[in-house]
Parts: sequence; structure tokens; C-alpha cells
Amino acid sequence: MIVRLSDPLTAGLDKGATRLLATQLGVHTVGDLLRHFPRRYERYGELTTIRDLPVGQDVTLIAEIVMSARKPMRTPPGQRPRFRLEVTVTDGRDRMTMSFFNAGKIAGAFQPGRRMLFSGTVGEFRGQPQLTHPTWKQLEVDPSGQEPDLDLDRPWAVYPTTAKVKQTTLRAAIAAVLGQLGEVPDPLPAEVRARWGLMGLREALAAVHTPQEEAEGYAALDRFTHEEAFVLQVALARRRAAESGSLAVARPQRAGGLREAFEARLPFVLTESQRAVGEQLAQDLAAEHPMHRLLQGEVGSGKTVVALRAMLTVVDAGGQAALLAPTEVLAAQHHRSITAMLGELAEGGLLGGEHSTRVVLLTGSMSTPARREVLLRIASGEAGIVVGTHALLQEQVSFADLGLVVVDEQHRFGVEQRDALRAKASTVPHLLVMTATPIPRTVAMTVFGDLEVSTMTEVPAGRALVATHVVPLAENPAWYQRVWARLREEVDAGHQAYVVCPRIEADDGRPGQDGGEGEDGEDGTVPGARDEFGGLLFDLEDGDEGDRARRPLRAVAEVVAELRALPAFAGLRIEVLHGRMPAEEREAVMRAFAAGQVQILVATTVIEVGVDVANATAMVVLDADRFGISQLHQLRGRVGRGSAGGVCLLVSDAAAGTPARTRVETVASTSDGFALARADLDLRREGDVLGARQSGVRSSLRRLRVLRDEKTIMAARHEATSLVAADPDLSGHPALVEALGELLDADREAYLDRG
Ligand code: ADP
Ligand code: MG
Repeated sequence: MIVRLSDPLTAGLDKGATRLLATQLGVHTVGDLLRHFPRRYERYGELTTIRDLPVGQDVTLIAEIVMSARKPMRTPPGQRPRFRLEVTVTDGRDRMTMSFFNAGKIAGAFQPGRRMLFSGTVGEFRGQPQLTHPTWKQLEVDPSGQEPDLDLDRPWAVYPTTAKVKQTTLRAAIAAVLGQLGEVPDPLPAEVRARWGLMGLREALAAVHTPQEEAEGYAALDRFTHEEAFVLQVALARRRAAESGSLAVARPQRAGGLREAFEARLPFVLTESQRAVGEQLAQDLAAEHPMHRLLQGEVGSGKTVVALRAMLTVVDAGGQAALLAPTEVLAAQHHRSITAMLGELAEGGLLGGEHSTRVVLLTGSMSTPARREVLLRIASGEAGIVVGTHALLQEQVSFADLGLVVVDEQHRFGVEQRDALRAKASTVPHLLVMTATPIPRTVAMTVFGDLEVSTMTEVPAGRALVATHVVPLAENPAWYQRVWARLREEVDAGHQAYVVCPRIEADDGRPGQDGGEGEDGEDGTVPGARDEFGGLLFDLEDGDEGDRARRPLRAVAEVVAELRALPAFAGLRIEVLHGRMPAEEREAVMRAFAAGQVQILVATTVIEVGVDVANATAMVVLDADRFGISQLHQLRGRVGRGSAGGVCLLVSDAAAGTPARTRVETVASTSDGFALARADLDLRREGDVLGARQSGVRSSLRRLRVLRDEKTIMAARHEATSLVAADPDLSGHPALVEALGELLDADREAYLDRG
């Protein structure tokens, strides 16, 4: 029977295996299975004899089973007894033993007299060489007594597995499917393949799973890396081509409008960076082609003002601007500060004249009547500036004339969400995306499609620095109390402080962080949305938890109780802020904090992005090693926003020299966010960079690494651009079209087609 790559994985495999592959590895089709690539290749070692076994080396030997015996292992009282299987073998001259732990199921395989091939690392047990848990294979002896061709010289593939899907299951399934594989159309055009010197698909599938040499396997893997880069770049090139054909309404700057009136009111001078980027934006907005720009600016560099000028330019030109924020806390704050900055300019026609507009806030937690009123103002065009969370993306929201979409702190939004908002305009609106986390060029190109990038490294002059110190409890636990004494000093000087914890409740069973997704549900956000470039789910995969794992992570609920009971803090108002509080409560706390009525705010990372209270000068981050580098930098950006400078204390139990401690020390060593972002990328795993929701394509990228494979991506982009220019519909490349379909989910494909 002949199978195709798109066929469901049913033919030739037993039901159990099929189900396991589907549920454990997400492998549903023949293609999925064949694209479950080996992690690496292994070989049997040199064939050796028992007498010559070199301790510490990988060896392979052929030996005959003499006997096997179950030996009980010491188990704690009350637990099920466990056994070790001790197998004695001989090569005809010497004997040795091998150990298998928990080997109940395989015990039957080691029948005396059987000849087997063993492979493993030689260890020592009571002075004797021993193999522990070697891989083994029974040698079938054919009737003539001839031993089979062992293929000892051929490498074999080692696959990523799960607890339930074993190497052997995968090898068998892949071999079965490879044997039945029919025609496989290659998404990589032959000319491109030839230019890159890559194998064809069919050859590569065989080579990747059953190479003659390791080098052949790796060459096949390389082909697949190139294929992924190419298909992805074709998708992006098509998107680019579609966009370049689309028209936007030009919103040229107008003299004597709101923007100028606003600039006249500004209590400070714009920085050089703000001015330069502002000019760039004005130029973009004046074009009849949609702006598509990423503004990456250091924490505190003043991105909001830049965005506001652009929004006012659009309002002056008769359009509306929407500002999309990742959390309700941040949306509410933007609304507050924009309204305050605009002053009477935001009184919406109360004063009559055109020198005024209205700024409205739309979030998921608003009451129905309030919401209805806001929706009306948006639809009528009365509201020139609309600030909101994901609630803005909902269907009922319709704009009179949406001219500009600003997305703040981009890493919290996926491409789909951005597109959903842009779809609300009758013509494609201009787009400005802002982030404080610098994004490497390949990531901007790959994950974000094609955004032109502007950068602001300058922070407004006169801003005092934030002194950052690591408080290493591993060296001196008593410093924990000193931290609070230091906070009291700040408060006595009339300032306010944040205390950041990695958890909300002590034993809430949830991993690490809050995520600030209080608006789950209503706002349509999905828990875990923060697994994105902003560096949220920081996996401590390097085992650097070490001994700190003994103490549970500090939690908001506990810490607030502790601080309220502290004699040093008597008389202070200490409040909490986290994503699971009801919106009104959060809003009330934020307002009280901004008004200076609360001295200490114990919070989760909800305060990470954009919260702006100039009088807050101190921050304590507890279990600081639980946060990523960029995240700590963002958090630190919450203090020292005024002229008073600030102090940031990174409290950690991590021992000196551990990766966790290094991370924290790196943050303390510099305030250059761009340098930190680079350090972060170096330490971070790819998955954290290429968040699933950001790209929508993570699951399809098996081989490609946007940081490592920059050259490949650039080459692929070049090829993809010329291919799309020559054949916009890809009518000459059906296999490529099919691969694109798999790469992009239905929504994104719809976007591409929308053109
Ligand atoms: P971010 O780039 O991190 O979003 P914000 O836009 O929140 O920074 O700005 C941080 C603070 O700096 C705000 O209080 C803002 O009013 C202030 N600010 C912005 N531009 C300037 C400037 N040119 N001079 C002085 N202060 C400024
Ligand atoms: Mg900001």
C-alpha cells in the first residue's frame, strides 16, 4: 500500500501506536511522523570483548546470556518492593554482569542461551566492569547458523521522545511508513534547491531517518531547516506584496491643530530621539500607503508622548486613533495620563471649536451602560482617541474612521489580534507598534512579518539613575530585614515603593507568575499569553533551582501580611496589586498609589509594563532569580521615573556562580536595556523568543532557529521575494502552496488572501 504525506497515520500502524503518537506528540499524518526529526545520531561503539572493556567508554559487544536474576532493591518501608535485574553474559571466554533497574517488563527477553548485541557506557561495580541499562538487541540467527548483518557502521536516529512514546516505537513507525511512501511533491523549487545545494524531499526523508553516515543525516536536517525558512519567508513575502498594494488614507500634519496645541502645553522639551522618530512617523502618516512601524525604545524613553503626537496628527486630519494596551492596569493608566496631558484639549467639544477631542477608555470589565456610551462615541467619531485592552477587538466595536492603531508593549499581542483591530477600518489603518524590548532583526523579520524599525535609546535628560543591588540571601540571610529598613528610608523621604513577588498566593499551585491576566475571559485573553518575547515564562531548565527549591516562592498574600506586621512599617498604608483582583479594585489601588495615599505596593508582574508613578523611587524584587533579564529591567523601569532617582533591590537566594544568580547580577551591572536584551537572548532558549502566540507558527518551526539561522533566513527571504514577484499566485508551485497552508492556520491564511 502506498501512502502520501497528507494521509492520516492509520495505515500500517497498530491503533495503540497511532493513538500514542497523536496524543503524545501531536503526530497525526504521515507527514507529521516523517517530520518528527531525530535529535541526533548514534552508533554502536567498536565491537569489543569483555576482557578489553574500557571503563568510561561507549562500547558494543556481542554476548550470550548465561543467566538472569531478580535482585530486590532496598525500598523504604511501606513502598512496593522494587527489583534490579542482573544479567550475566559471556563472550565465550569471560563473564560479566549487566544491571537493569525496574526491569520487570523486559526480564523475559534475557533467556539463557540467547545471543544479543549490547551497547552502553562501561562503568565499574565492585572493581568489575559493568554495563548499566545498555541498549540491547537480540540477534536472530538464520537456519544456516549465520549471524545477521549487524549494520554496526550505520548510525541510527535518536528521536525526541516522551515518557510514553519510546525510541523503538518511533523507529518502527517511521520505518513502516517510509517503506510505504509514495510520491512526495517538494515545496522547495528545484532551482532554489540547486542554488543551495540541498537534497530533494524524498531523498532527505530517507536520509534523515536512515542515513548511511551521520553527515548525511545532518545534511538532510539542514535541508529541512532551509525548507522551513523558505516557506515562512514566502508567506511573509506574499503578505508584503499584498500590503504594498493596499492603500491607506494619508493623514498629513496640519498647522494650527490639536497636535500643535498639545506641543505648546508640554511641560518638557522633547528629546532628540523623540523628535526624530516623530518626524519619521509624520512622514509615514502622510503617505497613502499604510505605515507599518515598530518603535523600540528604552524603558522610560518617552514612547507615549511620541505615540500621542502621532494620534493627534490623525485626529487633526479628521480620523480616529486607537491605543491598544496589554492589561487593564496599563490601559487605565494610559487613559488617565493622556487625558491629563491633553487637559482642556480632551474636553471633547465642551469648549467648542476644533481644538478639542475626546479620549475614551474601553475595557472588558466596564459596566454595560458605560460600555454602551463609549461604543457610541467610538462609532460616531466623537471620540478621537480610544484607549483599550483586547476588548477593542470585539465585534461590537466599530469606528467612524479609524486611521491609526498604536499597539503598546507589542510582545503581549499576537499578529492575529493586531490584524483583528486593523480589520475594523474601511481602509487599512496606519500601524505603530511599541516595545521596550529590543528585537533582533531576524525576529522582527520572521515573527513580526515586516515592520520597519525605529529606535529610541535616549532617555530624557536629568533623570537620575536607579541604583541596582543584588541582595544575596545565600550569603547572609539577615540582609532580608535590612531591605525593609532601606524601604522605610525611602518612605520617610516622602517616596513610595514597590515590592514585587513571583506568586500571588503561597500555595496556589500555579507555576511562577501572575501574568497580569486578570482580564482573562471577558477580554478574550488566553492564560499563558505571556509566553512571548517579553520574557515571561522563564524556564529554569538549567537546574539552577538547586537548594533554593526548598523554600516556597514568596507570594503577594504572605508578603503583604508580613510587611503590615513589621514594626518598621507601622502607620504605612500597604496595598496589593495582582491580576486576579477584580478590575475596580485594581483600578482603585492604582489610583490611590498614583495619588500618593499608598506608600508600599506589593504586586506581581502586573506592574511590569508601563506603570508610571514618578514618586515611586524604590523597588524590591523578591526571588529575583525567578524573573528573566528583560523582565527585571522592565520592572526596574517602574522606579526612577521622576527626578529623584531610585533604588532597586534584587533579593535572591541563589548561590553565587549559579546561572540564576548570574542573571540577577547581569541586571544589576548595567541599565542599558539593549545590552541586557542581548545578554538575555544569549541565555534564553529559542522557544522563549519565538512565542507561539506571537508568531502563530511556532509549532511548524521544528528546525529553524531565528537567532542561530540568521544567514539561512536572509537567503530564504531573498529567494522568496523573487519567487513571489515572479509568480504571485504561486500557480507554478502547488507543493509550496500546500506547505504554506500547513504553516499558517486558517485565520492567517485568510489575512494573506485578503490583500
Ligand atoms: P516609556 O517609553 O517607557 O513608555 P513613558 O512614555 O511612560 O516611557 O514616559 C516616561 C516618563 O517620562 C513619563 O512620565 C513622561 O511624561 C516623561 N517624559 C516623556 N518625554 C519626556 C521628555 N522629553 N522630557 C522629560 N520627561 C519626559
Ligand atoms: Mg510605555
